[in-house]
Amino acid sequence: MQNIDSMKVRQEIPDVVNYINELFDDAIKDNVSDIHIETTKDFLIIRHRKDWDFDIYDKISLEHVSTLITRLKVLAKVKIDENKKPQDGKIVYVSEKEKETIDIRVSTLPTIFWEKVVMRILRQDESLINLESIWLHDINLEKVRNVLESKYWIILVAGPTGSWKSTTLFSILKDFNPLEYNISTLEDPVEYNIDFVNQSQIKPEIWYTFASWLRSLVRQDPDIIMVWEIRDKETALLSIEAALTWHLVLSTIHTNSAAATIQRLINMWIEPFLIASALKMIISQRLVKKICTHCKKVHEIDDLMKARVKKELLDIMESDEISELQFYKWVGCEHCKNTGYAGRIWVHEVLVLWDYLEKSVLSMASASEIHKVATKEWMITILQDAIFKAALWDTTLEEAFKLI
Ligand SMILES: [Zn+2]
Repeated sequence: MQNIDSMKVRQEIPDVVNYINELFDDAIKDNVSDIHIETTKDFLIIRHRKDWDFDIYDKISLEHVSTLITRLKVLAKVKIDENKKPQDGKIVYVSEKEKETIDIRVSTLPTIFWEKVVMRILRQDESLINLESIWLHDINLEKVRNVLESKYWIILVAGPTGSWKSTTLFSILKDFNPLEYNISTLEDPVEYNIDFVNQSQIKPEIWYTFASWLRSLVRQDPDIIMVWEIRDKETALLSIEAALTWHLVLSTIHTNSAAATIQRLINMWIEPFLIASALKMIISQRLVKKICTHCKKVHEIDDLMKARVKKELLDIMESDEISELQFYKWVGCEHCKNTGYAGRIWVHEVLVLWDYLEKSVLSMASASEIHKVATKEWMITILQDAIFKAALWDTTLEEAFKLI
């Protein structure tokens, strides 16, 4: 991170249109995920977020705040004169320089000095997203495919904010040929467009909620329904009802593990028998940093780490197999700006609710008890998956153990 005080304040912006084009072009070139525009009492700063970390992109004199933010609001098609309320908009940007079209989701929020603008860059190359591209372990991929063969369950993708849950949902959706099914989605916001899928954007400000839309949607003769997120009891119950009346329902939920997801539904006062009969699979996921392929180096781990790895894997691997695993460590080079990492990868745990779990769900067992039963039935935990990915040299043990 650069030192903000030593950076020069940009005094001139001769052409705001060019300046913003350049800002977007640079974001594409550097594979940035978000652009943050913030006003302090002395200047405006623009930061780029990439792989969780921030870089300061520019520091600008306060006299340009109004021009810059107004231009962004025009592009995002939100109200220019509204600065007391948060607004959401979208920019479709065609970069002539980078030969790419991107979607930019724009969110504005009033702050004490001005408005903060955050822009999420969405690469339109969603053709690359599919079940094979989201780093599912072979065993997990097989589990997911097995469950998808029956088309009347609820499948939930669980994880904290920013764990790319929506990408996983889309990779599942894309496993179905939309011309063979009636697929409808309720999203907030719509991130990727898929041909022949009926995508609706939920607008809570004009009374539409997931629950009210879902009620109308089931009358549209759908086969597969994707609901952006289960946040409340009403949406959870309607999703369960849809699943029990022969629909496949896909959704996300904000929880930290597969087992905690069941607990969360019980805490929403959903009857355990409904959970047991409708919920079939939970894909819980997190992100870890991907090691830089240019500078990674074989690394002999110390005895303490060996013991930790062994303790985690002993349930699913033989002791001598574990000792043979080899790990890498990061070094740092020009490609990764000396950080040792470049990009992120998913780690998962896939919990399939076959009969063995029914008793635990019905008796409202705790998350840790459910986790224990599931691992006995060969669920690979998120940490185990991360250790495997470290052994496959995609990440490091350091990153894996950050998950706990
Ligand atoms: Zn490197």
